[in-house]
Amino acid sequence: MRRPGARDDSMTLTSGSADALKTLFGKDFVDGRSADAAGYGADSNRYYKAQPGAVVFPRTVQQVQELVKLANRQNLALVPSGGRTGLSGAASATAGEVVVAFDRMTRIGEVNMTDRLVECEAGVVTQQLHEAAARAGLHYPVDFASSGSSRIGGNIATNAGGIKVTRYGLTRDWVAGLEVVTGRGDVLQLNRGLIKNATGYDLRQLFIGSEGTLGFITSALMRLTVPPKNLQVMLLAFKDIDALMAASAQFRRELPVTAFEFFCQNGLQKVLEKSAREAPFDTAYPFYGLLEFEAPYESVLEDAMDLFESLSDSGQVADAVLAQSGRQAADLWFLRESLSETLSHFMPYKNDLSVQLADVPAFMARIDACVAQHYPDFCVVWFGHIGDGNLHLNILKPADLAAAEFKARCERVNADIFACVQAFGGSISAEHGVGLQKKNFLGYSRSAEEIAMMRAVKAAFDPNGIMNPGKVLPD
Ligand SMILES: Cc1cc2nc3c(=O)[nH]c(=O)nc-3n(C[C@H](O)[C@H](O)[C@H](O)COP(=O)(O)OP(=O)(O)OC[C@H]3O[C@@H](n4cnc5c(N)ncnc54)[C@H](O)[C@@H]3O)c2cc1C
Repeated sequence: MRRPGARDDSMTLTSGSADALKTLFGKDFVDGRSADAAGYGADSNRYYKAQPGAVVFPRTVQQVQELVKLANRQNLALVPSGGRTGLSGAASATAGEVVVAFDRMTRIGEVNMTDRLVECEAGVVTQQLHEAAARAGLHYPVDFASSGSSRIGGNIATNAGGIKVTRYGLTRDWVAGLEVVTGRGDVLQLNRGLIKNATGYDLRQLFIGSEGTLGFITSALMRLTVPPKNLQVMLLAFKDIDALMAASAQFRRELPVTAFEFFCQNGLQKVLEKSAREAPFDTAYPFYGLLEFEAPYESVLEDAMDLFESLSDSGQVADAVLAQSGRQAADLWFLRESLSETLSHFMPYKNDLSVQLADVPAFMARIDACVAQHYPDFCVVWFGHIGDGNLHLNILKPADLAAAEFKARCERVNADIFACVQAFGGSISAEHGVGLQKKNFLGYSRSAEEIAMMRAVKAAFDPNGIMNPGKVLPD
């Protein structure tokens, strides 16, 4: 019997099963070798080569259900695909799997203003949900640099975080209901938009963050909120990480903070070079914090100014600039938001780590020492959602080093980095998921007993292992 979650070489697409897919999908079936399939079968992790057997584009939940039943009968491996902006290889099809792309399930319902809910099919792009909420005078607060391409099904399947978690939490906090098709082929309606529902296990939560390994999310009831008022944006410079963390804690105690992000000088330098923009300060500092807060009343702004003055006087903040217009605020956000895209040109090896906030300075010092020992010749860029204890460690590939050799070197060092994460009780994947890239390191963050329970959950929802095989669970 196949181990739950394992990939099986017998799960290849035969001409018979391809014909059955063509019958089910008609013109929404694309052969994996055709030009139209290019781009499907890989996500934004560039280390895995796409080799999909076929790509299909369902239009209804019934079609997804038929597909799952067919896959169970014919032993087909299915890979759910959203916007393919994921960074862990979780949406990649590297062994002839059938990619199930939600590009044609993009309906958004009417906003229910009483419950502040809106129904979205899995293929709705995150930014479309932002716009639909705004048209109704409401706000969908989960946001990140890939919002223009990522889709709601993918956001839910990775429990995406982003830049506003400090104030609004993760995608999980905004999912009020889910329609799913399990790996068995059952259609489940989970929670149905209720706030209170104490009727046993909340299966909705199992699907959130499951990376397509339990079944398909076909539709979601997303919760909305009221928009923030009068957002203020400030960029602060710090001489060291202790000063940055202390200031961050004080801001979060004393102001209605909506985001606190950070990046290092190496990262800023790359963004400035790529965008040909001017540096925000005359002097370079090791670390920068991007603070956004809501100032609905004049008194909040006055309190904020008093706080900045006292932090500057004590030397805790080395320099600061407060945006004076929406345009300036966007320019400051650009420095943080364009980091991922800028660094993607250097084929970065990404680690997405988290520890408790109080541990950040000691943790970073330990990782920096480890990195300096193992990567003396590599450029290292730190940035991330430091208000949540989430640090993105990016190792940039030197131009003259082959990708495979670079990846192998980075993976050897992972053991040391993850041992450090483990020692701090942290996570080896704060928000990017496990996918292919982290699956064999899962044991650094989850116990053997937990992983055994995960396999049991997987087997309950997907007994034949057709859903995204070879992802998340260790080999
Ligand atoms: C520039 C950039 C910035 C980013 N910033 C952030 C950030 O700040 N925070 C953050 O959390 N992430 C971030 N990401 C990662 C990524 O954008 C998110 O994880 C996003 O939510 C993935 O959505 P997607 O639609 O692209 O999913 P995909 O990459 O297509 O898929 C991700 C996973 O979800 C599964 N899946 C997709 N659709 C379904 C479905 N309908 N049913 C079941 N499973 C499904 C896939 O199989 C895969 O396992 C960033 C990525 C980029 C490129």
